[in-house]
Amino acid sequence: MLKRTALILIAAVAGLLALTARADYQPTAEKVVDNVYAIVGPLGQRSAENDGLNANFGFVVTARGVILIDSGASRLGAEKIAAAIRKVTDKPVRWVLNTGSQDHRWLGNDTFAAKGAEVIALARTAATQAEYATQHMDGMKRFLGERMQGTQPLLAPKTLPDAGTLELGGETLTLAYTDAHFPGDAWVWLPKHGVLFSGDLVYVDRLLGVLPWSSVKKGQQAFHALAALKPARIVPGHGRVCDLAQAQRETGDYYDFLAGKVGAAAREMEPLTATLDRYADLPEFRHLQNYGDLHRANMNRAFTEFESQ
Ligand SMILES: [Zn+2]
Repeated sequence: MLKRTALILIAAVAGLLALTARADYQPTAEKVVDNVYAIVGPLGQRSAENDGLNANFGFVVTARGVILIDSGASRLGAEKIAAAIRKVTDKPVRWVLNTGSQDHRWLGNDTFAAKGAEVIALARTAATQAEYATQHMDGMKRFLGERMQGTQPLLAPKTLPDAGTLELGGETLTLAYTDAHFPGDAWVWLPKHGVLFSGDLVYVDRLLGVLPWSSVKKGQQAFHALAALKPARIVPGHGRVCDLAQAQRETGDYYDFLAGKVGAAAREMEPLTATLDRYADLPEFRHLQNYGDLHRANMNRAFTEFESQ
């Protein structure tokens, strides 16, 4: 009996060690401007090691507590974000805003809500969260395995019917739909600071991905609206904190290319393969990570979108 108990104990300790040893990645916060921070995740894929935090997050420290923008992809990922915030301030996270419905934007909601935070999103963002919740939970379980344990998908309980301005803790935040990567995606703009959290509209350092439910047309429109705001600093959905010029080169110009060149070819009913071949090598975007894997599929999806219009 004793032997069996010892074996169980050893197995449990070994399991625990395996669990911690595989998740070394700890996000850190970097200051964007006073009281505004970005947490820049790795550019690669979701993994047990990074707990699905392969995206950017951010937070604003106000007199009344912390506003967190996006909550991570799991309970353990959310705890890692919470630890990164604690290194900057001991104020509690009072509010969580979701800029999107993709796993790493919101599957940590429940963890922050359990600590007393109010979770807020635009209505269509929350609607897409509901639509994709099961699919994204299943996907994360494949990437993270048992490290997804305890993760409960909590749709943003407070939804705002329309885009507009929020006042939280004395901070002004403007939410607007981008609808680029997922329907209902949004950005958070801090007009007093000139800082924009773009959600999955802007990608720098790596090529943006066009998914079957993404919209190149809406992405292009949203980027033009973003440029008109003239943000001083942009916390992109993926990649390092940047200025407008870099976002323009690495996202805005790419949306313009997809909508302009590929979209035009599709509308003029040119053959798909010839179009993809013609634009297979674009030196201005070739340096971006994932270019080799994503560029052709992105063009293919852009073609399909514009063909049907
Ligand atoms: Zn993303």
